Amino acid sequence: MKKSVEAYTLEDRKKHIVVKEKNKEQGIKCDQHSISGAVSQRACVYCGARVVLNPITDAVHIIHGPIGCSSYTWDIRGSLSSDSEMYRNSFSTDLQERDIIFGGEKKLAGAIDEIVESMSPQTIFVYSTCVVGVIGDDLDAVCKQAEKKYNIRVIPVKSSGFAGSKKDGYQAACNAIISLMDDKEYKIDIKDHRTLNYLGDFNLAGEVWILNNYFKEIGVNMITGVTGDSTIEKLKKAQNASFNIVQCAGSSIYLAKMMEERFKIPYEQVSFFGIQDTANSLLNVARLTGDKKIIRDTEVFIKQKKADIASILQKYKEKCAGKKVAIYVGGGFKAISLIKQFNELGMTTVMVGTQTGRQEEYDTIKELAEEGTVILDDTNPTELQKFIKEKGADLLVGGVKERPLAYKLGIAFIDHNHERKLPLLGFEGAVNFAKEVDLTVNSPVWNLVREG
Ligand code: SF4
Repeated sequence: MKKSVEAYTLEDRKKHIVVKEKNKEQGIKCDQHSISGAVSQRACVYCGARVVLNPITDAVHIIHGPIGCSSYTWDIRGSLSSDSEMYRNSFSTDLQERDIIFGGEKKLAGAIDEIVESMSPQTIFVYSTCVVGVIGDDLDAVCKQAEKKYNIRVIPVKSSGFAGSKKDGYQAACNAIISLMDDKEYKIDIKDHRTLNYLGDFNLAGEVWILNNYFKEIGVNMITGVTGDSTIEKLKKAQNASFNIVQCAGSSIYLAKMMEERFKIPYEQVSFFGIQDTANSLLNVARLTGDKKIIRDTEVFIKQKKADIASILQKYKEKCAGKKVAIYVGGGFKAISLIKQFNELGMTTVMVGTQTGRQEEYDTIKELAEEGTVILDDTNPTELQKFIKEKGADLLVGGVKERPLAYKLGIAFIDHNHERKLPLLGFEGAVNFAKEVDLTVNSPVWNLVREG
């Protein structure tokens, strides 16, 4: 395998790849800018910002840039709303050559005027894109002027695509959210110890609702998902939580840290993917309330939920055990949960990688991985293809950019990204996941493909 790493990769990429060896200290290079020419699978800064902000259901999102950047819309993300549908619109200033030569500020101000007149939003996010970063439009000034003119919030999001990676976009979005939360009018004097915010979940296929139902059963009160199914008002109330829990650390740990500093709200990382992690995280939440009754009720709840699905999962385990899996996802937390989830199904992870994983997450991944597992940071299609083939994976788990690769290689694929329409969170999600794994990995079509 060492030979393969040598053969398949650019020199600068080699430290981003580790083949697990037992009882050996093996660090991986991560949390860096992508290497030029390596064709990273990562998305741009603007995309990172939009991932986090788009699920705020009653806000307007204006993309200041060429129309192409606006191809990111609600339709390619599965965030659901229980109230406003404002966020499903996508607005662009559609910058043309003329605007790029003479500046796009007037066009942006005009777009804000038009939207305020026709939609009457209370909050508008204005995203900068690559070209805006190059021509240097003053987003701050245009947004400030519009705020004064209409007495609403118009928040500039500094997200020029080239100015970093998706992670910088997450940070820009977190800065925008904290600026919204800091509203003294919404602050209450005494906090309820059972009250929390749920950060880093975007309510894909209604996952925030699934978790909220669990919380209702055990007696915990969620102020808001951040940003799944959130509204501007809910985000302003978020400062009153006793604690925060963070699902997607990559996108939201920065916000959790800022909320801890500004509002004195402590946070804990959780994961509600897979039976084991869901049960542990629910118990963790119960303990954070410090309420003995909630802890007891949670233990009973978990026991019941596990019993309800045990026989169904056993059926899928019998069908899927022994298959090999390759994982390539955005954040480290998801990769960790997925390895455990595949273990629960008797499947082996032979390759695992992330776009934006952190060192401590890679340490956990390495601990969980079996000897010989290829671990990759910020990889590219060439490396993915080579390692998937070499390790003989039957299934690839990833997002929209990885799907065609799996199909070209003639192996099964599961979408575990924002485009999916199937909830994979919690106990119900674990059953959906097992069903999906079985359907795809045991499909007879792969035998036909292999036979040629
Ligand atoms: S911001 Fe830049 S990198 Fe991102 S979609 Fe637009 S042009 Fe592409």
